Amino acid sequence: MKDNLDRMPEECGVFGVFGAKDVAPSLYYGLISLQHRGQESAGVVVSDGKQLKSHKGVGLVDEVFKDFASSQYKGHLGIGHVRYSTSGGGSIENCQPLLFNCKLGQAALAHNGNLVNAQTLRHQLEQQGSIFHSTNDSEVIAHLLSRASSDDLEGAIASALGQVRGAYSLLLMTEDKLIAIRDPLGIRPLVLGRKDDQYIVASESCALDIVGAKLVREIEPGEMLTISSEGLEWDNILYSKKRAFCSFEYIYFSRPDSDFMGKNVHTVRKNLGKVLAKYHPAKGDIVTGVPDSSLSAAAGLAEGLGIPYESALIRNRYVGRTFIKPSQEGRIAGVNLKLNVINSVIKGKKVIMVDDSIVRGTTSRKIVEMLKQGGAKEVHVRISAPPVTHPCHLGIDTSSQGELLAANSSLEEMTKAIKADSLAFLTPKELLEGVGVKDGLCDACFTGKYPVKMGCCK
Ligand code: AMP
Repeated sequence: MKDNLDRMPEECGVFGVFGAKDVAPSLYYGLISLQHRGQESAGVVVSDGKQLKSHKGVGLVDEVFKDFASSQYKGHLGIGHVRYSTSGGGSIENCQPLLFNCKLGQAALAHNGNLVNAQTLRHQLEQQGSIFHSTNDSEVIAHLLSRASSDDLEGAIASALGQVRGAYSLLLMTEDKLIAIRDPLGIRPLVLGRKDDQYIVASESCALDIVGAKLVREIEPGEMLTISSEGLEWDNILYSKKRAFCSFEYIYFSRPDSDFMGKNVHTVRKNLGKVLAKYHPAKGDIVTGVPDSSLSAAAGLAEGLGIPYESALIRNRYVGRTFIKPSQEGRIAGVNLKLNVINSVIKGKKVIMVDDSIVRGTTSRKIVEMLKQGGAKEVHVRISAPPVTHPCHLGIDTSSQGELLAANSSLEEMTKAIKADSLAFLTPKELLEGVGVKDGLCDACFTGKYPVKMGCCK
């Protein structure tokens, strides 16, 4: 049995609260602030100390929660999840948190990341009689937990996670405990916050800010935190010397107001722009960025080159992400719907346009065309990341290899394909310089060097 690594990964956000009288409002606000991590489905599970209750559905957080009767979901402990996946579809079965009963009692699970051996494990479990309700990796973890020989939850978790390989930032809850675990390489983020007597765990620190909590620290790679009425306990259950935090979290995925490894995401993006200015300068009259994810890098490049920054591209905030439109025609229309050019800003000018990444090339091609139609004399494209040449199997949707522009073309071909006057990317080494670290980042989508062994072999 081979794991199908061409299936699309899931991008998700998780949020958990312990200790409030009524956790439902915090769960809702926390998920709203993590909405950028997944727009396909949302859900929460709340415990009143006796019973776990779930509310989830397909759609944005606001849509899913419009019929949420919070009075029926009173509890001191809860977890929430937002999800986006192009595989498994948006069916209700794939919505999380996953609520299940096992020999250890009632439990719920919310997962961000992708397991690279999920298909193999699923096949083995099915051979042994397990019945699956969804197509997501998280259900594999639930089955492994319920089959573990250990009689306590912590032991069952250690045994289940000992069998999985890949990326996971995981929240688990029972009637009276909240457990947070991060994979041994720390691929996906997970932070711990505190507000009075409450503990909060979230994918990003921006979700702590919205509920008025302070960041305590990141959950360490391989660490399991257990929060109960006894307080907070932690244990390193999955040791690895290696670290592989996803560089795409810094480049594109996370919100600029979040911090990881003591570094603010906006500041890192701005540094990436400065590094672009240092190694890949261009001659231009103005620098502009593609709202929102490349604005920080564009500001850094403008500062580095000493060229004025201008807002030439305006985004319609009420249109969803172009990337998730299933057809190529839909994607192109999506860019038009989403962005417009202020012609008077660019007319007759040499424009340096910064974007955070080129995946299929749809966005850059369309924007160069729009800028030229708007009267730009030249358009020089600078990308604040290396070329994406390999798909991510660990939780970011970077498309399959055949669709990746950089996997199949030279720099010259890419420049032609997007019709730019010049094009430059960061190298993986320059990316490290911009982030301000020597190593410890996963750059598999740029190098093909995956931090975990791919496929079915242990
Ligand atoms: P593409 O148009 O296919 O080249 O995709 C690149 C554009 O999509 C850039 O403007 C990025 O900001 C954005 N992008 C990059 N990675 C992702 C992702 N995983 N999900 C959604 N959008 C993305």
